[in-house]
Amino acid sequence: MSVFEHAEFDNHEQISFYNDEETGLKAIIAVHNTNLGPSLGGCRMWPYADSAEALNDVLRLSRGMTYKSAISELKLGGGKSVIIGDPRKHKTDDMMRAMGRFVESFAGRYIIAEDSGISVHDLKCAAQNTAHVSGIEAKYSWDGSEADGNPAPSTSYGVFVGLKSAVRYALNTDLKGLTVAIQGLGHVGLRLARHLHREGANLIVTDIYPDNLHIAEKELGAQVVKPDEIFSVQADVFAPCALGAVLNNDTLPQLKAKVVAGAANNQLAHREIGLQLAEKGILYAPDYVINAGGVIDIYHQRMLSSSEALKAHLERIGDNLTEIFTRAEQQQLSTSQVADQIAEERFSNNV
Ligand code: NAD
Repeated sequence: MSVFEHAEFDNHEQISFYNDEETGLKAIIAVHNTNLGPSLGGCRMWPYADSAEALNDVLRLSRGMTYKSAISELKLGGGKSVIIGDPRKHKTDDMMRAMGRFVESFAGRYIIAEDSGISVHDLKCAAQNTAHVSGIEAKYSWDGSEADGNPAPSTSYGVFVGLKSAVRYALNTDLKGLTVAIQGLGHVGLRLARHLHREGANLIVTDIYPDNLHIAEKELGAQVVKPDEIFSVQADVFAPCALGAVLNNDTLPQLKAKVVAGAANNQLAHREIGLQLAEKGILYAPDYVINAGGVIDIYHQRMLSSSEALKAHLERIGDNLTEIFTRAEQQQLSTSQVADQIAEERFSNNV
């Protein structure tokens, strides 16, 4: 298994492998870049087929965190960690304490947070052996309500702000009377639906589970469609809030929306899709820019801040996107290319 020659290796500063025989912990931490500050990123526990698959994931995800933090003007770098194993079968408190020791060995250059397979309880176990843990205490919420540590409210508010700025740029209007198709009514999608409803948007929604669909139908007057119908519905905006790689060769020809703006990570199945969206006249809000509310939230929880400062920072997602849309149009590039360009300018020059 190569590392420096790996296709996803991108000048990462440090990649470290850890094996703790006593607890069965097998983990990798990758620090991509710390020009702007200590690297922060979630810990994902997943039953990877082998260590090559885990390495691939951690290299890709840690790089993504550098870009997300830089574009969001956070004094943070990009890092990520993965634990090899099934969280429902293999995870123990002792294993997470061992993970804390591994994080501690980075002496603050990597700060661990939640990702799939890892809970707040797990992070609290890790925190017994390291101070470099995020997301276990919540002090501020964007709307001044009691903070509970869940980043989804901040993420959905950021997506809402970003979606509005994309609509303003592409269609020169506000949301009143527009139709938004939401794929996935989970923690972020349902909250986004409520924001949009309050602004007078019509909703078309889908999910693979019925519970939140019933809520959206009753409370928000949403039209419910089957999961495979969501791409082709007559909507002004498509908001992917479920899975990655939803913008691909199959779904692109189906889209009628003129704007794509949603929370899901890694929405483009491959890079060229970004260009193809632009060629079709669809304005794409790059995923890591519009869905940065969660990491912005974590950042504010770590410092002396306020609900007002958190809200103002989330609202800058809209300004960031407008800058990206404008540059993309001027330079005839895709919005995802421009987002990468701006992030690189920021973390390379430490601005
Ligand atoms: P979630 O698991 O709560 O919600 C996802 C929803 O999508 C679920 O209700 C699920 O049933 C539904 N779904 C899954 N497959 C589907 C399909 N094929 N068709 C329709 N619906 C489907 O997750 P979440 O926290 O709401 O996050 C949503 C997306 O946003 C994810 O891609 C996540 O990585 C990303 N994201 C979330 C946050 C956050 O703060 N929660 C931050 C950044 C990015």
